[in-house]
Amino acid sequence: PSIMAAQDTIVARATAAGAGGVAIVRLSGPRSWAVGRALLPWTARRPIIPRRMELGLVVDPASGEAVDQALAVFFRGPHSYTTEDSVEIHCHGGSACVWRVIGLAQAQGCRLAGPGEFTMRAMLGGRLDLTQAEAVGRLAAAQSDIEARLAMAMLAGGLGRALGPARQAIVAAAASVEAAIDFPDDAPELAGPAQATALEDGAARPLAALLAGTVGRAAYWEGAKVAICGRPNVGKSSLFNALLGRQRAIVSERPGATRDVVDEVLILGGVACRLADTAGLGPAADELDRLGQERATSFLADCDLALVLLDGSRPLTSADHAVLALCQDRPRLLVVNKADLPPAWQPSALGLGPTLAISATSGLGLNELARAVAEALCQGAAEPAPGEVVVNARQRAALGRGLAFVRRAVAELGRPEPRPELISLDLAGALAALGEVDGQGAPDEVIEAVFSTFCVGK
Ligand code: GDP
Ligand code: ZN
Repeated sequence: PSIMAAQDTIVARATAAGAGGVAIVRLSGPRSWAVGRALLPWTARRPIIPRRMELGLVVDPASGEAVDQALAVFFRGPHSYTTEDSVEIHCHGGSACVWRVIGLAQAQGCRLAGPGEFTMRAMLGGRLDLTQAEAVGRLAAAQSDIEARLAMAMLAGGLGRALGPARQAIVAAAASVEAAIDFPDDAPELAGPAQATALEDGAARPLAALLAGTVGRAAYWEGAKVAICGRPNVGKSSLFNALLGRQRAIVSERPGATRDVVDEVLILGGVACRLADTAGLGPAADELDRLGQERATSFLADCDLALVLLDGSRPLTSADHAVLALCQDRPRLLVVNKADLPPAWQPSALGLGPTLAISATSGLGLNELARAVAEALCQGAAEPAPGEVVVNARQRAALGRGLAFVRRAVAELGRPEPRPELISLDLAGALAALGEVDGQGAPDEVIEAVFSTFCVGK
């Protein structure tokens, strides 16, 4: 969506696609009440009470045909989600009903909303800052409990509030630097060391603290790619299915049943993991096998964690050693499967560090494995507490840039003869970076990029 197009009236389905009990069509913008009135003829018979849900027919104004029976709520801006006049029509959940109602609104001049456009309007209307808007997007898409918790903490506005004092400290420093540039003769000398300390304490420290809180926590926000790898027949597909809790991948006594990478999202130890079952690695039996192995190794190359699966009931083979070598320098957990059978070798004799004993078929050790996965992905960092603000990847990148600018300014202020022009540039860079985080003064491209990841109707 373009920020420029915020004047027209938009329409979208606010609930997920597919059939459901109820589907909500949302209208927002200056003409939303007029359009709502046109589609809901009963509103002509009595005054509309904002925020009160009422039942009535949705009627095609052109033909007079009743297309659905629906609950409707009118909101008068600024007392609405978007801060604009808006209307919600709670239709029956069938796609046909929803699209007919949307079509009627379009016929009345509404435009289909782009991804996140309602929330963007809420932000432009001052209801939310960019961090809170992002939180809304994540709440609409959260997969793990902890991700939802992080989004709730961000929705409360803690990050925006944390940025306030840092921004003030930067602005205060910038003001005196500008004075030193504009009135080099009249202005007092740049009080370098004192200002360096003020900027360090007021901006660098709090920004560094926000960044420090993300160490090991990124996986809670961003999820992680986890690959199960190993030679054929060690039980990769069995483990994949056991963790998933259903038969998704083919399990076979015949090696080489899994040719492609099969992956699913599931929660392991609180982290949303894209877990992949990959083709067995070893001498390729045929062309298909070779291609499958190629896919497996490329998935392995960019996963966050590899579960290297070994069969504890059979002596290790050269293929096992090849897999171990392949994963040697990667984040990995060594997992010894088939612990329900008599062991054929001792993991401690391997000299590769700790291993986890599991049985994919009996379930032995799988809870421990899930915990170990989360611990490896989060480098042992504590689970975020309720209300604790942990920044996401986008915010972390911008904060990191802001902090680097602040530190350069602090260093320059600490020099015997600080050069105000340089400091001024760095402070401007720092403010721009903070603006990218909460949206204050951020360029349209930044804001549009954030909202482009939203679903339509949010
Ligand atoms: P993959 O080729 O690595 O995906 O291995 P599969 O999951 O297809 O399993 C190969 C064979 O090992 C199948 O016959 C499984 O039933 C068996 N298997 C897998 N895990 C276990 C286990 O923990 N214990 C025992 N006894 N057999 C297992
Ligand atoms: Zn398999």
